[in-house]
Amino acid sequence: MTRLILATRNAGKITELRAILADAGLRHDLVGAEAYPEVPDVKETGVTFAENALLKAHALAQATGLPAVADDSGLCVDVLNGAPGIFSARWAGKHGDDKANLDLLLAQLSDIADDHRGAHFACAAALALPDGTERVVEGRLTGVLRHTPSGTNGFGYDPILQPSGETRTCAELTPEEKNAISHRGKAFRGLVPVVRELLG
Ligand code: IMP
Repeated sequence: MTRLILATRNAGKITELRAILADAGLRHDLVGAEAYPEVPDVKETGVTFAENALLKAHALAQATGLPAVADDSGLCVDVLNGAPGIFSARWAGKHGDDKANLDLLLAQLSDIADDHRGAHFACAAALALPDGTERVVEGRLTGVLRHTPSGTNGFGYDPILQPSGETRTCAELTPEEKNAISHRGKAFRGLVPVVRELLG
């Protein structure tokens, strides 16, 4: 069985990708980066989601000698020309302060009418092999931004993104409902044929 390493310490992401691989009949042993604590975290110096996902996947593949998967994601707002984008996790200044990021974005968009509140979550998922082979797949979840947050599930900007065709925000969907339509779910599912092609 081929071991595959995912560049995350987030148990939810590991469970999600493991389920997607298993559903596709792929029997790879997927482990998270915490299985290799000696491998340092990589600086995300790229300027696109794909560049950052590839940076992380290559670094992990080189350090472990294993095929490595990494993802990078964020929220892209139409009227802001795609921002926060790669800055989504630190839009308000401090990395990972979800509430401050969401409050700042809502304030910035306070004058923007419903017709112009289109946005999407984007995710790039990369697979890198120790020999330098690389592939990257992207997924999107498109919707509109609410004026006020709603719902308690999920994380980040979930309480303000209402997916197209939905009446609820992402934070009002169950985790299963969100995984079925999410940018990350789509990108991870897009990796299935890539894993099959490169790893068998
Ligand atoms: P990461 O690539 O998983 O580290 O995500 C970067 C940032 O993008 C997060 O900190 C969130 O602010 C935002 N983000 C990415 N995916 C989602 C999502 O599914 N829901 C809400 N926010 C997200």
